[in-house]
Amino acid sequence: MNAFMPPTRLLMGPGPSNVAPEVLAAQARSTIGHLDPDFTQLMELIKEQLRLAFRTVNRITFPLSAPASLAMEMALVTLLEPGDKAVVAQNGVFGGRMADIARRAGAEVRLVSCEWGRPVDLDAVRAAIRESPEAKLLAFVHAETSTGAWSDAAALCEMAREAGMLSIVDTVTGLGGIPVLVGEWQADVVYSGTQKCLSAPPGLAPITFSERAVATAKTRKSPIQSWFLDLNLMLGYWDGEGGRSYHHTAPVNALYGLHESLTRLLGEGLETTWARHLAAHEWLAERLQELGFVFVVEKEFRLPQLNTVWLPEHMEDAPVRRRLLDEFGIEIGGGLGPLAGRIWRIGLMGETCRIENVNRLADAIATILPQRSRATTLRCNQIERTLNCG
Ligand code: PLP
Repeated sequence: MNAFMPPTRLLMGPGPSNVAPEVLAAQARSTIGHLDPDFTQLMELIKEQLRLAFRTVNRITFPLSAPASLAMEMALVTLLEPGDKAVVAQNGVFGGRMADIARRAGAEVRLVSCEWGRPVDLDAVRAAIRESPEAKLLAFVHAETSTGAWSDAAALCEMAREAGMLSIVDTVTGLGGIPVLVGEWQADVVYSGTQKCLSAPPGLAPITFSERAVATAKTRKSPIQSWFLDLNLMLGYWDGEGGRSYHHTAPVNALYGLHESLTRLLGEGLETTWARHLAAHEWLAERLQELGFVFVVEKEFRLPQLNTVWLPEHMEDAPVRRRLLDEFGIEIGGGLGPLAGRIWRIGLMGETCRIENVNRLADAIATILPQRSRATTLRCNQIERTLNCG
């Protein structure tokens, strides 16, 4: 059998994003034991780097050995017990997943269905909280990857806090691309993934818990139903002072990569990174609008790192994306769920987020896009703009 040699790709979809050669080189270094004192030192370093990236002093901040879906699951199953009530906002695919997990954890979910392509509706959440005063938590997605909408995490966390509720924030697509201010928001559980704006390979999920969240986990009436996701057991591994007890075998080399990617992020500086994402997004918007594309999300709520545009009339989704991949080596994403076949999702995340990449994509689209589509784009978008995906 020959070794698998991946083709060269420019990853401009919803993740994974391109990974810097330095990160890949770090991952290729020799594996050491996961309880080796040198490795436990690296674990401490990564925890500190994640605190800086999340802008928090939360002691319990670590990368979960799993994709971000499991961090979502960990956040919910840690705080919720059977019979608890939870308010979950949904303005896209991922909010729906949070609600599903909360229900599976035995909670009674008050779902706040918001229009897809718009941020979480603050008034609707306020009303839901008023109607469910005994709810234990509010969960929402900060950066909804399925639509490209940016929600006001500060306001939502404040609403939860004022109602005496905990907050869970999914910022899988947010961290490293836009401000994620866990300390300032006083959010309780916040998680992300490595494959988006952190530009490390997929498979790890940074997560952080406030003291209130940790205390909630420690004083549960029932044990957390998932052994692997039981925070109390996990802490013996990630938070064991001096000695660490075996919980699972951490993905040693993946953590070398994460350390390198965080070093790059913090070296550039968070503010500079956020500005780079914004500048590339603005240039992409200009180039795409010139070609006749219309954005799904209103300007003020757009995520710079995840751009969604309506597909022009007469343009088939999959074949055109396939041409971009085959002829230009560029991957972009299609729509999810009810938006499948109707939108494109264009990622400008982390390493990928460079003006030259924006130009490469826009030039490639201009080559492929039939003239007929350009002329009819606006008309088709005016007809299709109403999103009814709730
Ligand atoms: N939450 C959001 C907002 C996401 O965009 C994703 C992945 O795209 C996830 C959760 C799940 O992440 P993963 O695919 O790493 O499990």
